[in-house]
Amino acid sequence: PIQTTDKIWHNGTLIPWADANIHVMSHVVHYGSSVFEGIRAYTQGEKAGIFRLREHMQRFIDSARIYRMPLPYSLDELCQAVVDVVDANNVAPCYIRPVAFRGYGEIGVNPLKSPVEIYIANFPWGKYVQGNQGADVCVSSWNRLAPNTMPSLAKAGANYMNSQLIRMEAEINGYVEGIALDRNGYLSEGSGENLFLIREGKLFTSPLANSVLNGITRASVIQIAKDFGIEVVEQALPREMLYLCDEAFFTGTAAEVSHLRSVDRILIGDGSMGPVTKKLHDEFFALVNGGKSDRYNWLTPVNVR
Ligand code: PMP
Repeated sequence: PIQTTDKIWHNGTLIPWADANIHVMSHVVHYGSSVFEGIRAYTQGEKAGIFRLREHMQRFIDSARIYRMPLPYSLDELCQAVVDVVDANNVAPCYIRPVAFRGYGEIGVNPLKSPVEIYIANFPWGKYVQGNQGADVCVSSWNRLAPNTMPSLAKAGANYMNSQLIRMEAEINGYVEGIALDRNGYLSEGSGENLFLIREGKLFTSPLANSVLNGITRASVIQIAKDFGIEVVEQALPREMLYLCDEAFFTGTAAEVSHLRSVDRILIGDGSMGPVTKKLHDEFFALVNGGKSDRYNWLTPVNVR
């Protein structure tokens, strides 16, 4: 169960957690008409900071735009709303969940006549991809969303029906997570993570055209890698690269940087966290946990007492 906090931001005001309810006949319940974000706040000693808040809220606005969902707040106002709710609840480290959806109004498929509701909650949440020695994952029998069906660049609630199929199948078959291929059979991503492979010192990841979410952790790791002088290659990747690579890891707000031990029961390298992954993993955590100075200005300060 979710660990609750005191307040949830709703359309401009902070309301008690227990009062953040919707009607069962809300449009979103029937047709999945929501967009959302997942953001982490980390602590740096006595301080706390939200990781890449602006980029997350810009993606939130972008997701809403794709679905013709008006958000009557500016980027600055949405960022401030996140800061306000984290401040009010006084919980860090934490996970932050902004969500906008079509509420109670019409029950036809067309969402345009149902009101848009925006909520922002935050709560404590730990490690997401289990397996301290690395995660054992599989290739999913499900494909990721085909480009002209559901837009992958929108972080929309309904996309996660596909993610749920991938994740359930993986867990029921004894894996931690599934990696989905795109509709053409190229590597895409996990149910909630972007995928990186390393071969001969180069870092490979699928481009946006392979039905991946434009992950903010993905962009951060690419930036760190480039600054380390690691060559980054964004290209369509065949499935068998999973079995030929030296190292592999997932990135995501929930997953952070999580190393993969095996795919389809085939060990990746010797199964341990390889040197390139370790370098990127350690740098990522040093930046968010304050071990290194915030040279990219990725952290927005929040007050936690
Ligand atoms: N792909 C999917 C499908 C996701 O749900 C997520 C998590 N938001 C990611 C990738 C990683 O994105 P980010 O690093 O922005 O959290």
